[in-house]
Amino acid sequence: MRFFSKLLTVLVASLPVAMAAPLVAVDVGHSLSDGGATSARGRSEFEFNRMLAGVLADALREKQMAVREINFAGDIGSLIERPQQAAGSDFFIAIHHDSISENWLKFWDWDGSEQSYTEVKRGFGLFVSAQNPDPKTSLRCASSMGAMLRRAGFVPSAWHGRRHVAADLANGVWYYDNLVVLYRTTLPAVLFEAGVIKHREEELELLDSERQARMADALASGIAACLSVREKSAPVSE
Ligand SMILES: [Zn+2]
Repeated sequence: MRFFSKLLTVLVASLPVAMAAPLVAVDVGHSLSDGGATSARGRSEFEFNRMLAGVLADALREKQMAVREINFAGDIGSLIERPQQAAGSDFFIAIHHDSISENWLKFWDWDGSEQSYTEVKRGFGLFVSAQNPDPKTSLRCASSMGAMLRRAGFVPSAWHGRRHVAADLANGVWYYDNLVVLYRTTLPAVLFEAGVIKHREEELELLDSERQARMADALASGIAACLSVREKSAPVSE
């Protein structure tokens, strides 16, 4: 009997958690004052991040998840403030767009000014930290998002293999252990690089609102799937 009454207590205690809509913290990478990377046509990465984060927030709400918007105004003070503002959420995703190291840059004239670009790197990447307090959920969510993105026709970049150890190669998930937003947190966390804005064709694709919606839908589906199988209570032990 004791076992069952204890089990019941655990079930009742976990019920509100199980039934509540997951709360997802969506973080816009970089800021107005530090724009991050620069695209092949001279746009700041922050603009791309802000756009996609907004579309992702809509897609998450459409799938009955709650959203906490982090740095949507672009005025956050520090890196550590991002996970701090996310505290209490169920999951954290940072939105970024990628560049390439200087050695690989080529140059062209765009709109009267010299800009740099690449032809060798494109595609998305998902990053997790082994030092995150919940690396299992972080990786499961990253894999789930990568799988949904691939199903929707998006292709992961293999380029990250030059600097990162694969966590789930097929789904484009890599370890990036020392990223502040991924490890100085209490939440499962993933950093998403949507694509390479230094790639001239991919830059234009990343600006396409229909494609942004498809990408956001795949991300939201992946997050919903991985959070739905999350262990919700501690195991019962006698
Ligand atoms: Zn970035």
